[in-house]
Amino acid sequence: MLIVKKKTRSIKQIGLERFVQRLPSHHSRYSSIENALRTTRAGDNGEKILAGVFSRFQIPFQHYVFHDLNLSSTGKFQIDTLFLCRQGAVILEMKNIAGSISFPTGQNQITRTLKNGQVDSFECPSIQLERNEMLLEDWFYARNMSVPIYKAVVFPRTQQHFESERSNLKILFPLEVLTYLRNIGDLSPTLDDGQLREISAALMESHRDYNPFPLISSFNISSSELKTGVQCEKCGLFGMESIHKGWGCHRCKYVSADAHLQSVLDYFMLVDNVITNRDCRLFLRLDSPQKANRILKRLQVPSFGDRKGRHYAVDLSDIELLENKVRRDD
Ligand SMILES: [Zn+2]
Repeated sequence: MLIVKKKTRSIKQIGLERFVQRLPSHHSRYSSIENALRTTRAGDNGEKILAGVFSRFQIPFQHYVFHDLNLSSTGKFQIDTLFLCRQGAVILEMKNIAGSISFPTGQNQITRTLKNGQVDSFECPSIQLERNEMLLEDWFYARNMSVPIYKAVVFPRTQQHFESERSNLKILFPLEVLTYLRNIGDLSPTLDDGQLREISAALMESHRDYNPFPLISSFNISSSELKTGVQCEKCGLFGMESIHKGWGCHRCKYVSADAHLQSVLDYFMLVDNVITNRDCRLFLRLDSPQKANRILKRLQVPSFGDRKGRHYAVDLSDIELLENKVRRDD
């Protein structure tokens, strides 16, 4: 057994949490950011549940599990969990949606009804599964591989009620996933162990981490609409003052040596993947170019240009490293 790319709290969720902090609550798009955060959080939790099933239970035959794969063939596509065995590839999509779910016939949507009577519509998971199946088929085809593809949607809430399910859509609860996969494992194999290893290596090679940043552009918000300043990690105030030892909060008197790190990370996740000394001073509300220079230099991220034209640019892995650093300092 091999589990590749185990899922944790996503960097997108962390970015959206910072977005909610930095956007004034009276902003017209505030609730759409909150909604995006809620959806991302539900998705992350659902995927954690599925990853937990794979780590707790044994599957007694040769297989590989990939979580959160981003691939491209005739189009870009993302698969929540891909299970690979000698019988073929199984696409598992997670749908963490609360409420009673109904599948109206002849529609590409599902509706859910909450206890309070609220009704919402979502794209039917069968649409996404069929699209992913087609793109994965194309991915195999481009590599001269012929692999049978199976697909199912997983709803992580075991108390969930479904109405008028579709005959062409396999629905599973997390613990049913194992039986479903074991049944596929009983079919006659079409791949040998060597081919399995080859496909697994090709998937890893082809996977690209998805970079959701900077977030303001996907929500059509301008950087001038965000709260600036260094945030006090004790009382939440934006606008810590630059002092000799670092940063001081005039409201709660907290002093921090490196509170600016979170703000620079916020800049990269929300505003732009490139920062200059001037951008840094405006965003941190800092007067001293020397201090801004020291802050940027110590980030240890790639820089370009010299002196006044110097700018620092990050990719997703730089952002993840910086995020780890901020969290460790908590
Ligand atoms: Zn404070």
